[in-house]
Amino acid sequence: MNWAALEARGMQLTRDEFWHPERGGVLSAAVQIGGCSASFCSPEGLVVTNHHCGFGAVNALSTPQRNLLRDGFVARTRAEELPAPGMVVFVVRRIEDVTAKVHAAQAKAKSPLELTQITDQVIRELVAEGEKAPDTTCSVAAFLEGKEYHLYHRTRLTDVRLVYAPPRAVGEYGGEVDNWEWPRHTGDFTFFRAYAAPDGSPRAHHAENVPFRPQHHLRVAAEGVRENDLVLILGYPGRTERYLSSLAVADREAIYYPKRLDLLTRIIAVLEAQAKKGDAEQLAYASAIKSLANVQKNAAGMVFGLSHNATVERKRREEAAFRAWVEGDATRAVRHGKVLDELLALDELERKTTSKDLVLGLALSPRIAPFLRGIVDLVDTAARRDAGAELDERQARAVQDPALLADFDAVQRPILEILLDELRTLDGDDAVRGRDALAPRTREASTAVVQRLLEQTKLREPAARLALLRGGKAAIDASDDPLVVLARGLAAERAELGLRMETMEGRRLDVGRRWIAAQEEWRGASFYPDANSTLRVSIANVKGYAPRDGVRYTPHTTVAGLLRKHSGNEPFDAPQALRDAAAARRTSRFFDARLGDVPVCFLADGDTTGGNSGSPVVNGKGELVGLNFDRVFEGVAGDYGWNAERSRNVCVDLRYVLWHIESVMPAPALLEELLGAAR
Ligand code: ASP
Repeated sequence: MNWAALEARGMQLTRDEFWHPERGGVLSAAVQIGGCSASFCSPEGLVVTNHHCGFGAVNALSTPQRNLLRDGFVARTRAEELPAPGMVVFVVRRIEDVTAKVHAAQAKAKSPLELTQITDQVIRELVAEGEKAPDTTCSVAAFLEGKEYHLYHRTRLTDVRLVYAPPRAVGEYGGEVDNWEWPRHTGDFTFFRAYAAPDGSPRAHHAENVPFRPQHHLRVAAEGVRENDLVLILGYPGRTERYLSSLAVADREAIYYPKRLDLLTRIIAVLEAQAKKGDAEQLAYASAIKSLANVQKNAAGMVFGLSHNATVERKRREEAAFRAWVEGDATRAVRHGKVLDELLALDELERKTTSKDLVLGLALSPRIAPFLRGIVDLVDTAARRDAGAELDERQARAVQDPALLADFDAVQRPILEILLDELRTLDGDDAVRGRDALAPRTREASTAVVQRLLEQTKLREPAARLALLRGGKAAIDASDDPLVVLARGLAAERAELGLRMETMEGRRLDVGRRWIAAQEEWRGASFYPDANSTLRVSIANVKGYAPRDGVRYTPHTTVAGLLRKHSGNEPFDAPQALRDAAAARRTSRFFDARLGDVPVCFLADGDTTGGNSGSPVVNGKGELVGLNFDRVFEGVAGDYGWNAERSRNVCVDLRYVLWHIESVMPAPALLEELLGAAR
């Protein structure tokens, strides 16, 4: 990082205060939780992240009788904090460069497949070695298509408790209507606390555990943020693909995202119909609907953004310029002369099966189609068994699990109708094995096809599934049950897909690495590696944007705007307590005189992506001013290229969080802890 340039923009910390390899620093307060980012915000292990990141845990803690998701939750004392299922906090302790070790192993590979396998193997060894240290979870991240490999040593905290969650009507205000949009009024925050054994070492939930004491925590900023202020977004962005070829992006624009959008839209409609039936159904499907709807709208943003930004066109121009640059110098021509064509050839190969790979991914997802997935797993397992061999208890239980048929007629059957209809109509390179069981050449309606399949199969009976498992390979080969025929084909597809992906990964390690090296040389200083779920900093300014010709968005929203959206109907149903507090907000210490209101959300021009949810947003003093939680619709396609005009990340202003804790759903102890930590 160019520190002088950063200071000129408003950074007041020294480089060492911000990040020091041994002493940590401000950056080390940023942790990972689930697939999200979060931060320590008190010396007592208090962790703040997004409401949508804690959603699954709050959902799991809710019942129709005690609906924390709907009503919100405040722990008035430490004793009231609730163990949060599935929430694990990862704290980076050390980052080790292991490039030399990985490259030495990779040099022995004789084929692309072997290259992937050797890489996986050496990574497994490095991880196992690192995890010999107590309470440590390790992972290796590749940068620049394998130019560098870093080993992350992380402390894993599993005793994580829910401290404060706003009601869903606040934490998800605007719901899917406003998701990925601006102007935004979502209170997307939730507090947890990490606990450890009294000696500070990580320990699973235990009555005698005490709050974990982080090496560093973020202080809450005394003043808020204003337009143009410097902000830094700290966190763990998941994945960007900035250096793809024009061909690969064109494939995503024309096939992958439109198809994903269409299928998810139809699947979500099925789940929503079920969720509407009652409170229990609502809670049962809330998390699934929310996460699918999030990727669905993301896909819509991609479809919109890739065409509006003319990304493919831009890539083509860049590729032409790159070729000219390569050809302009004889040594460059030797070094980089072939690489772009090699890359395009790989992309051409991959695009042949884009549709098939996408539909298979959905059809074999245990969350989307548990019955079909269960049958494919059963066929796979049985095919590896001899008829006489002793039954594995766990497998026997799995094939008879009643959950396989959960909500079958209301949910699984209509979803199968959608997905099997896709599978039977895919053709050419995309044609799927086993589809003969689905009468692929008829014009029959999918309802009838699925109806017949379900009438003819015996496998809806647990006893029939167990018998098939018991019969092993011979029974699988001999079966003419149409569902077995289909599942045999899908199992073969799955195995082939795995192999294809491993081979492709190996090819990309070779071609991709040379492509990236060429890009680095060609692009010069502004070049940086794609996101890969490791700790990053995005340097930004608070800034609005122009979504369309003649329209300019300001960078802050306020409580007045929230109230204006309130209709009393979901997702714009602000709780009474919020509306009451709003009536008196002029006297709140979180009232911003300049804005003439309590702020709610703000925009910045950070380079963020999925995984940056929950990222602490800090000012030039390293103090917490907000939490990142989203990007704007016009900027979603920034995963394929950040854009100064349209790439904006959406943050909840910390003053809104504090106002909520003080005046809407009061939690005096929490407020004192946060503000006390600022002193
Ligand atoms: N809303 C996103 C997430 O869930 C954040 C983003 O993609 O900008 O991670």
